[in-house]
Amino acid sequence: MDVRTGIGFDVHPLVPGRMLILGGVTIESDLGLDGHSDADLLSHAIADALLAAAGLGDIGRLFPASDESYLGVSSVELLKECVKRVTQEGWNLSWVTAVVNAEVPKLGPYHGQIQSHVEKLLGCGMNLTFKHGEGLDAVGRGMAMRCYATANIYK
Ligand code: MG
Repeated sequence: MDVRTGIGFDVHPLVPGRMLILGGVTIESDLGLDGHSDADLLSHAIADALLAAAGLGDIGRLFPASDESYLGVSSVELLKECVKRVTQEGWNLSWVTAVVNAEVPKLGPYHGQIQSHVEKLLGCGMNLTFKHGEGLDAVGRGMAMRCYATANIYK
């Protein structure tokens, strides 16, 4: 059996006047993540982890920001497309982990909803962790969020 692990990472600025969407779930917040797409950094990091595991590149290369057709695109759709490409290569998804590093807003109440929504998209289990920024750097000062993810696949 061929077993692979991939790692993904993403960071986006947190600004007023933008929706905050994590794993396709809309979070009630005065601040949202800024970016070319809906800036759903959890979906982006997981998509990159999956593509990395399968050796298929990364979302920046597959869905370039310079391509206007991706302007405001739902990142869940990009994640679904990545799952499709990985499984088309004969890979099965076995487990995904993700750490969302954020100071604000309070994400705890959304944990179960986000995790089960992403699990449904992936068709495999995942462990979602929220981690505070402890007042350090841009995340700790509430100016950004970052996310790390791993994906395990096999065939
Ligand atoms: Mg991103």
